[in-house]
Amino acid sequence: MSMAMQFVFLGPPGVGKGTYASRAGPQLGIPQVSTGDIFRAEVKSGSELGNKVKGIMEAGGLVSDDVVIEVLKKRITRDDARKGFILDGFPRTIPQAEALDGIAKIDMVLNIALPEDILIEKISARRVCRNCGDLYNVASIDREGIKMPPMPPKEEGKCDKCGGELYQRADDKEEVIKERLAAYNKQTSPLIDYYREKGILVDFKPTAGPEEMVPKIIELLKEHGS
Ligand code: AMP
Repeated sequence: MSMAMQFVFLGPPGVGKGTYASRAGPQLGIPQVSTGDIFRAEVKSGSELGNKVKGIMEAGGLVSDDVVIEVLKKRITRDDARKGFILDGFPRTIPQAEALDGIAKIDMVLNIALPEDILIEKISARRVCRNCGDLYNVASIDREGIKMPPMPPKEEGKCDKCGGELYQRADDKEEVIKERLAAYNKQTSPLIDYYREKGILVDFKPTAGPEEMVPKIIELLKEHGS
């Protein structure tokens, strides 16, 4: 029996989509597909595409639908996505969701939600490995029924996995965070209703750190895979 597992992780910046997708994907044998990661790699390499999206990303805006859809199509037709994928950061607009309907059959959309004050605190405290993209967070949250311990590296400023240098994403700075949250609220949050109406949306409110949340998410994905 071949099992297709095509999932979308939907939610505002800082909610944990990347952390969850990067941990759950490998356990299910499917790749995390992050359009943000793809764009950051293009910017780093100085490609034509990278130069085109750099300014938009730094300002916290959204890259145009045509460009993102093209990139996504190319990525999910690669061989490693044959069994499925977890989309992290795509779709972000209704036209993107409509384009996705034309090229995939999404089994489930996990709608991940946290209060905005917690998002802001988590984004500000996020650090990323410049080399392998591994994620760390020094925020320690314990309020509103949410208990998230910090996820610091073993050695300050250094990636546990590859020893690479940790840095703060330019768009994780306070001025840009507000723009990104506004873009989410205006352009992306309508997707919640879009997918709820299709009957494939599952709501998920994290209450603890990834050690406790990832197994729960994997259970949900296994239940809803086709
Ligand atoms: P992320 O890592 O998902 O927060 O994405 C970082 C930035 O890349 C976003 O703020 C956008 O500028 C751009 N980006 C990533 N994915 C998309 C998308 N699906 N649509 C438009 N812009 C995107």
